[in-house]
Amino acid sequence: MAQAGNGSMQAAFLLKPETIAIREAPRPRPGLGEVLIRVRAVGICGSDMHLYDTGRIGSVVLQEPHIPGHEMSGEIAAVGEGVTSLAVGQRVVLEPGLACGDCPVCRSGRYNLCGAVKFLGVPPYHGCMAEYIVAPAQWVYPLPEALSFADGAVVEPLVVGLQAAAQGGVGPGSRVAIFGAGMIGLVALEAALARGAAHIWVVDVVERRLGLAKELGAAVVNARHEDVVQELRRQTGGGPDVIIEATGAAPAITAALKAAAKGATFVAVGFIEQPTIALDYTAIVRAGIRIETVFRYANQFPLALDLAVRRRDRLARLVSDRLPFAETADAFAVAHARQEGTIKVMVEFP
Ligand SMILES: [Zn+2]
Ligand SMILES: [Zn+2]
Repeated sequence: MAQAGNGSMQAAFLLKPETIAIREAPRPRPGLGEVLIRVRAVGICGSDMHLYDTGRIGSVVLQEPHIPGHEMSGEIAAVGEGVTSLAVGQRVVLEPGLACGDCPVCRSGRYNLCGAVKFLGVPPYHGCMAEYIVAPAQWVYPLPEALSFADGAVVEPLVVGLQAAAQGGVGPGSRVAIFGAGMIGLVALEAALARGAAHIWVVDVVERRLGLAKELGAAVVNARHEDVVQELRRQTGGGPDVIIEATGAAPAITAALKAAAKGATFVAVGFIEQPTIALDYTAIVRAGIRIETVFRYANQFPLALDLAVRRRDRLARLVSDRLPFAETADAFAVAHARQEGTIKVMVEFP
């Protein structure tokens, strides 16, 4: 991997839960097959917030000062030996899960499940909230001219939405219910629309988020005021045949499975709040529900870049807050506060 180069840079470090500080760090140098990227925008993800809030993510525990962030765009500042596909000055985005490429799941194309993956931003691998990062050229894609750096940093979450819609088998005629009108739910909405779904319902408890989902073309159900199962069954005429679950909350999961049409596909994409939840297994089996799980993504970046160009203005509406890199600590505080209008908080570099 990268060695420290001459010179230094500024990077935002998570020191302990809820504490971010900008510190000097050695500027990395690209090795064989790698590029040095000058970072221009980084979105704050739900997974970054998990680490920020609790000091852990899954089984990974924050032990040392850690650079968060994996939803990034930037420009090539230097190329390492052997890199011919990218040139200095080129605008790019990064696919942040660096899979090994060689294990059985990588070889099968499901490299999101690689046991040796280095996912930038998840300890022990530093992320992108720094002036410069180094990454293998094979995981770096040119950013289309029509997209700004902030647009580019939204591509990674859009990829998650595309993965969910693909695993749900969404197509023309699908009746899709999306649980959760946060970033992942709303990019799943874009992905479902792009795959031709004509009928999409979005379920949430925050009226402001539902308002945005409605403006973006979904029918909405407010789970705080309405009986979700009854409403979805009635409005879809028997239940949705694809469900994209992006809340991770047990009551939403239970309601979603109950509302589903017979033979429906249930796609789990949310972070689960508690590790185990009780489900009516018999009812799920009898209804012939197919359960799909989304752990990150594979092979979706080129498609997402294409979609991001065509839906640029809609995706830009999901960026609710923009702060400069010098105010990264404030950016995390904004994301942490979880105001109703906060969808995606973007950190932008000069
Ligand atoms: Zn993310
Ligand atoms: Zn692998």
